[in-house]
Amino acid sequence: MNSDEVTGLKRLWKYAGPHRPQVIAAIFHTTMGKVMDVVPEILIGAVLDVIVRGQGSFVATQFGIADRWQQLLVLATANLFAWIFESLFGYWSAISWRNLAQTIEHEMRDQLYRHVQSLEVSWFEDNTSGGLLSVLNDDINQLERFLDGGAASILQVFWNIVLVGAMFAVSSWLLTLLAFLPIPIIVAGSIRYQKRLEPLYARVRESVADLSATLTANLSGIQTIKAFTAEDREAARVAEVSDAYRQANRDAIRFSSAFVPLIRMAILAGFTCTLVVGGWLVLNNRMEVGIYAVLVFMTQRLLWPLTRLGETLDLYQRAMASTRRIFGLLDVRPVMKEGSQPLVEPVRGEFELRDVTFGYGDGPDILHGITLRVPAGESHAIVGATGSGKSTLVRLLLRFHDARQGEVLLDGQDVRHLSYASLRGAMGYVSQDVFLFHGTVRDNIAYGRPDSRPEEIEAAAQAAEAHEFILSLPNGYDTIVGERGQRLSGGQRQRISLARAILRDPAILVLDEATSAVDNETEAAIQRSLARVTQGRTSVVIAHRLSTVRDCHRIWVLERGRIIEAGTHDELIAHGGLYAALWRVQTGEAVKVHPTASPIR
Ligand code: ATP
Ligand code: MG
Repeated sequence: MNSDEVTGLKRLWKYAGPHRPQVIAAIFHTTMGKVMDVVPEILIGAVLDVIVRGQGSFVATQFGIADRWQQLLVLATANLFAWIFESLFGYWSAISWRNLAQTIEHEMRDQLYRHVQSLEVSWFEDNTSGGLLSVLNDDINQLERFLDGGAASILQVFWNIVLVGAMFAVSSWLLTLLAFLPIPIIVAGSIRYQKRLEPLYARVRESVADLSATLTANLSGIQTIKAFTAEDREAARVAEVSDAYRQANRDAIRFSSAFVPLIRMAILAGFTCTLVVGGWLVLNNRMEVGIYAVLVFMTQRLLWPLTRLGETLDLYQRAMASTRRIFGLLDVRPVMKEGSQPLVEPVRGEFELRDVTFGYGDGPDILHGITLRVPAGESHAIVGATGSGKSTLVRLLLRFHDARQGEVLLDGQDVRHLSYASLRGAMGYVSQDVFLFHGTVRDNIAYGRPDSRPEEIEAAAQAAEAHEFILSLPNGYDTIVGERGQRLSGGQRQRISLARAILRDPAILVLDEATSAVDNETEAAIQRSLARVTQGRTSVVIAHRLSTVRDCHRIWVLERGRIIEAGTHDELIAHGGLYAALWRVQTGEAVKVHPTASPIR
């Protein structure tokens, strides 16, 4: 066992800590079960003793029962009770361990999920959701399998050695020595084996993660796969990854299966010794037949369960491979530190970027020295070519990422000092790739304020021009939208997520292409209600369709991560720069760009 494992086990034990009474109950049940398990063997010896010695038997002398038949009946009754209690304790023991395993599994999954959820956005960009799923699901289940059977099994082996050992010790020292001889060999062998299994199981876990990642990605991209008739190719790819998993397992299986036969050999040697030497002792009247019989049965009892040690260690090794992955994930620390300050009430909703430079990961700068201010209550727009950095810019407002240089301020407070609850709580955000949860339309709209009243939900839907179409759905507001909202059209999804942001009644609305998928008419209607909704509320709107933003207080034009123009619609048109050119293209007027026009601010 290396130090890594010791800390792993210690941390695992910490989860069991609060459930100590259950642990003790489980240990008690297993122990009693084991004691009851040994009793019949002793009784068999006593029966033989009765038959061989009669009046002088152990039962006769100790309990004063003279009649042999009665002696037998007493022993048979005792045996019956021993079996009944063994079954009962076995049942209780299974229940206690399994429930304990379930509880620990549940708590770990809960903690792990919370932890993963607290990690920053960029971390998720670097990790596949399938890989994460394999840890959250598979690895935790693996752990459960060990806790389920492994702990009880180790305990049983322990009690076996103690109880049987005690009986041997009072009977014959020579036989004790012989019977116990194989144990150190078996234990030493097991540990060596287990060491060599470790890397094999680590590989198995990695290939599970690969498999899970591939499957998750493929299932969510099923339409693309079909559209490009790539089914065969994808099936082959999945088969390949699955085969790698099988291969990794095969190596582990081959190795772990050789273990039990090896242990059996060691056991057989010990058993044969007891049989021969004990028989010799009886023949020479140095030992009672009853005791001999008990010892022969006991040797079986002692040694055969040790074969299970192999299985248990195997489970343990698998569990440790999983535990390492689980704790590895738990040890990932967010790079971004959440601030602790609340926003000063009342929230005004003024935004400012001061000379902000940003890039993803180790990549090049995406935004260069951006300085912009959105005064409280104003509607501002960000426009620019695709890939110019618009979405990136608003993600900085929500602090999904931190700027490399410069400051992002909300109401004059650096967003890095604010708690996420107060920063993000002040915002209603409609992201460019709309996401709906599997559930009803109502639940999706109320996502940011689950306690909203039905009238409020409808009012928000009305403002987002969603009310009408929702009523026409099969179950109205109670219609299930399907996974990721796939039962709705793109424009419908957008309007629901817009309603979701509006319902939150935030100080700041951040809309990233929130109306890109709706028709012109609907858009005009949304525009009118948004004008009402954004009255006296700060809003930051990203749009490709410039008609959407022409009434904004100020329009910022982004090009390759730089602000090249800013002003009202009229100012920008008069300026005759990029915006004016784009406007002419969209309104169908002459297409001519003035690349030489100087930026205005
Ligand atoms: P669009 O109008 O198409 O939505 P955009 O202006 O919103 O474009 P952004 O999404 O901000 O553009 O992307 C700006 C640049 O940043 C692009 O070059 C893109 O490749 C890069 N980028 C965006 N997201 C990431 C990311 N998570 N990791 C690395 N690079 C990214
Ligand atoms: Mg974008």
